[in-house]
Amino acid sequence: AGDTATGSNGSSSETAKNPDTERMQFVVVEGFQVGRGAARIDPADMARLGCQAGDIIMIEGARTTAAKVVPSANIDRGQRSIQMDSQVRQNSASGLGEHVSVHKARVSTAEKITILPLSGGAPIQESDLQYITRYLVGLPVTIGDLLRVGTPGTAPREFLIIGTNPATPAYTLQSRKTGELPIVETPAQGNDVEAVMVQPGTIVRAQARGANNGASHHVGYEDIGGLGKELQRIREMLELPLKYPAVFDRLGVEPPKGVLLYGPPGTGKTLIARVVATETKATFFIINGPEIINKFYGESESRLRSVFQEAQRKAPSVIFIDEIDALAPKRAESGGEVERRIVGQLLALMDGLESRGQVVIIGATNQPNALDPAIRRPGRFDREIALRVPDMRGRMEILQIHSRDAALANDVDLQRLAQLTPGFVGADLEALCREAAMIALRRVLPYIDYQRGYIPYETLVNLNISMADFQAALRE
Ligand code: ADP
Repeated sequence: AGDTATGSNGSSSETAKNPDTERMQFVVVEGFQVGRGAARIDPADMARLGCQAGDIIMIEGARTTAAKVVPSANIDRGQRSIQMDSQVRQNSASGLGEHVSVHKARVSTAEKITILPLSGGAPIQESDLQYITRYLVGLPVTIGDLLRVGTPGTAPREFLIIGTNPATPAYTLQSRKTGELPIVETPAQGNDVEAVMVQPGTIVRAQARGANNGASHHVGYEDIGGLGKELQRIREMLELPLKYPAVFDRLGVEPPKGVLLYGPPGTGKTLIARVVATETKATFFIINGPEIINKFYGESESRLRSVFQEAQRKAPSVIFIDEIDALAPKRAESGGEVERRIVGQLLALMDGLESRGQVVIIGATNQPNALDPAIRRPGRFDREIALRVPDMRGRMEILQIHSRDAALANDVDLQRLAQLTPGFVGADLEALCREAAMIALRRVLPYIDYQRGYIPYETLVNLNISMADFQAALRE
């Protein structure tokens, strides 16, 4: 097995197609036991394509992929039909009864391929990689192919080929049917390889999934937008004591214990507390005011005590008390026995905190005036930061943050969107970006296989959020 590069080197830049290569249309028919990575066609058609059994062909459906060509059975001949292994068919994004275009592939030996595990589960081990390599040997692959491989003792896992050396074009999903999707034709040069063959010597690498994935997403200061000055103050107040307690000791000043963040809902209070904890490597505790009163009825005070104890044990810590007004309303007004006891407990815990800045409490409220003034006395929540509804520049920053990982079409004008969204807080702007992405997603929904439970990479590649999507999201 060596390189089997075929075809001429003539580079026809215009069509990116080798003019000498015969192309033929085939209708996709059902096939049984076609063989891994294979496609069956009439041997006469094979000859017309300039192929022999075992050669590699390119199959262009809604996506292009490669397959090993094998002769079809006698009864299936003479019909210009093609039978594909289910994985091949999936990768060609073609359905039964549809037409695909076929030509002989320009193939090269794969020196290296990089795979991205799609289904979750345990990280890929070296032994898995060896198994996957053995499975792939003899198969032609292209960038963007999806492969299902059963590793021993585990359910089949799905992988996406995200890189090959030499590189094949990144074949993405095209829309022939609706014309709605942007056609992202990767211009292949005349002598470029279209597919690579995995050989025993091919190095197979797994790309770790993005580290910031799901719940463990690392949040940092770069995730907070539109709060230049406020953020600076927050960092001074909280980061310094959490990170460098000795500084306060030396200066003989009392580090802040409690900081009150107030402002309308969705302005980033929770986000800030979380980021401060993450960035200072502090343990993060969250107490929800209404919840501790209602859900832990009768146990509210002991709950509070245990959080404070735990925070001291795991210092440095940040205790975030959301909707602190529920927990510590003006005593005079509420007059309730329960609230009175709880405020008393909270104050006692804060007063008793001997942490020298290693435990900070961040309270959040939409209505600072509803708070029991006792909790704002020195040594308690004695610092305050107001978070306002972001201005135009702030909105622009926040939009940038929430769209930075998204594939935005060239026409998306974030500045314009910031102009169109006065009164939007961070949470609204985040929702806007999410909604625009959903609208873009709905355009490609016909291509999403719900059975598989995830969105194929090639669909994502074609998923571009346009200005019209944002405008539609604004209208909703
Ligand atoms: P609050 O606690 O003030 O009600 P959150 O922090 O819960 O608001 O905000 C909800 C979400 O809105 C955040 O997780 C974040 O995605 C987004 N968000 C809010 N404010 C900002 C901001 N200033 N910058 C970036 N994103 C923000």
